[in-house]
Amino acid sequence: MTQTVIFTPKSLSEALEVLNDKKPVVLAGGTDLLVQIKGGGIPPPRYIIAIDNIKALKGIKKNGRKVRIGALTTFEEILDSELLAKFAPHLLEASYEIGSPQIRARGTIGGNIMNASPAGDSIPPLFVLEAHLILQSIEGRRKVAISQFHTGPGKTIRRRDELLIGIEFEAGDKSSRYFFMRLGTRKALAIAKVSAAGMLNIKNGHIGKARIALGAVAPTVVYAHGAQDLLAGKSLSPEVALLVANAAQNDCHPIDDIRSQAEYRQAMVGVLVERGLMRIMNELNGDGQR
Ligand SMILES: Cc1cc2nc3c(=O)[nH]c(=O)nc-3n(C[C@H](O)[C@H](O)[C@H](O)COP(=O)(O)OP(=O)(O)OC[C@H]3O[C@@H](n4cnc5c(N)ncnc54)[C@H](O)[C@@H]3O)c2cc1C
Repeated sequence: MTQTVIFTPKSLSEALEVLNDKKPVVLAGGTDLLVQIKGGGIPPPRYIIAIDNIKALKGIKKNGRKVRIGALTTFEEILDSELLAKFAPHLLEASYEIGSPQIRARGTIGGNIMNASPAGDSIPPLFVLEAHLILQSIEGRRKVAISQFHTGPGKTIRRRDELLIGIEFEAGDKSSRYFFMRLGTRKALAIAKVSAAGMLNIKNGHIGKARIALGAVAPTVVYAHGAQDLLAGKSLSPEVALLVANAAQNDCHPIDDIRSQAEYRQAMVGVLVERGLMRIMNELNGDGQR
């Protein structure tokens, strides 16, 4: 049996050298990877690089309008972040839904993105923020829009010598409103059957930019383009929420799998989008139009 060699670099430059030389499998919190190896989903790798000692991959910072989340940030740390509570409250809602306290203490946002599941809970919130992923190799850095990064379940455009080092997005302002909604089989420890995230810019009662992203209803997370187009220029009302929810159902093409059925998923997309929009409407009515 081949032995696995594990590298444990302390610095980013050391890690990038190893990635370049050995093309190892990256291990962050291990909550996906180790389950996949143990379950036989992937063969035991020849080389593993454990990145959890690299300080440069941790932390949440704001520089000007840019908010940056280190790839190694755990969901527990996201839930504790005042900065994200202000500028990405829907990412906290999604983080709260992930696994159990133990999984949230180990699981990282970088691992969630790189695992490339269409049901990954952090991905729809990052879509509506129009977040960019920062990938680094010894050759340099590149930024990729999260919406361009996943090409199918478990598939991304990452090169094997690259490390995801962080996620960056532009902070919204008082006109930005967000939601994240998901449906799982149980309250805890169940992967989403369907999820939806939204971001609306609302000024003087009118919607400017609108972004809606849907999870677990296509091979990758997708934008609900028809729903977004319908929202632009409108005022939120129960009628508009219903119209947009119906449009969102036509924006996705779910499949049957062990977690749910296509028809049910499609119906639930409408329910989640309508609920999310109604929640924003009620917030606005509750605390005055911004
Ligand atoms: C019981 C249980 C419940 C769960 N519940 C949920 C849930 O509700 N919602 C949900 O979305 N997920 C859930 N998960 C999945 C998992 O916890 C998350 O996807 C988690 O965010 C993975 O992060 P990690 O740090 O553990 O990744 P790892 O397992 O270490 O890595 C995952 C993948 O990403 C790659 N990778 C990690 N970091 C990097 C990096 N910086 N650069 C390049 N590649 C990298 C690894 O090579 C691997 O392919 C659950 C898992 C378990 C075991």
